[in-house]
Amino acid sequence: LRGIECKHVSFKYQTQSNYALKKINLYVPTNCMTAIVGPSGAGKSTLIDMIMGLNIPEEGQVLIDGNPLLKDNLLSLRKSISYVPQDPFLFNTSIRENMMIVNPQATEAQMWESLEFAAADFVKNLPKGLDTKIGDRGIRLSGGERQRIVLARAILRNPAVLVLDEATSSLDTENEAKVQQALEQLKGKMTIIVIAHRLSTIRNAEQVIVLEEGRIVQQGNFNELAMDK
Ligand code: ADP
Ligand code: ADP
Repeated sequence: LRGIECKHVSFKYQTQSNYALKKINLYVPTNCMTAIVGPSGAGKSTLIDMIMGLNIPEEGQVLIDGNPLLKDNLLSLRKSISYVPQDPFLFNTSIRENMMIVNPQATEAQMWESLEFAAADFVKNLPKGLDTKIGDRGIRLSGGERQRIVLARAILRNPAVLVLDEATSSLDTENEAKVQQALEQLKGKMTIIVIAHRLSTIRNAEQVIVLEEGRIVQQGNFNELAMDK
């Protein structure tokens, strides 16, 4: 089975008495988009960390393309994942340097291609293009623009799996729409996993997983779900 599977996965943080994840069964198909939703504390981040091999299940198994996730294949798994958090991190250097740091072998064309996905409109209009220093006076990037460069950088790593952890939650509707367009284009090319609140973000997902108190309470495509839409 191509993709990521969780089989009866349970996980508890050492400091907690309750399980953060309780007998999770889940299949994230390769090159599809899966959204994980649910209230704060439901276990979304814990589940993502499990899929990325950062949490080791106490019970059950995580399988990648049918192979159990073991300590000795964790590194190659992590290298195949790009993770975009809610608060984007950029170095205070040029956009070019921020991009190249994740893939020093990337060609100019590859760099532009990645930027094209997420940040084309404003990067082209910057006075010094990719050599614009982020944070320079007069060329301040908005939070939304910074987040879109972080997304472009994540894409430049050419990951098998792209994880967006509330990565668009703080964006205004215009930037959020731009990111959605980028994700639409990436659909079918890589596995995309998004944790999100906004319906606009999860509408395009082939699979939506609703977590509550460490359990999957609903699973299906957007239209099948009995959510308060
Ligand atoms: P969500 O991402 O849906 O908000 P989390 O996965 O962060 O939920 O949290 C699930 C549960 O695990 C919560 O009860 C939370 O308090 C607990 N938890 C999360 N991270 C830690 C941690 N590092 N140590 C202890 N408990 C944690
Ligand atoms: P490479 O796979 O090209 O060797 P590295 O693993 O050295 O890249 O990571 C370079 C940068 O890419 C890191 O500083 C980090 O920002 C990002 N990165 C690497 N691995 C991950 C990951 N699993 N999830 C999210 N970001 C990552």
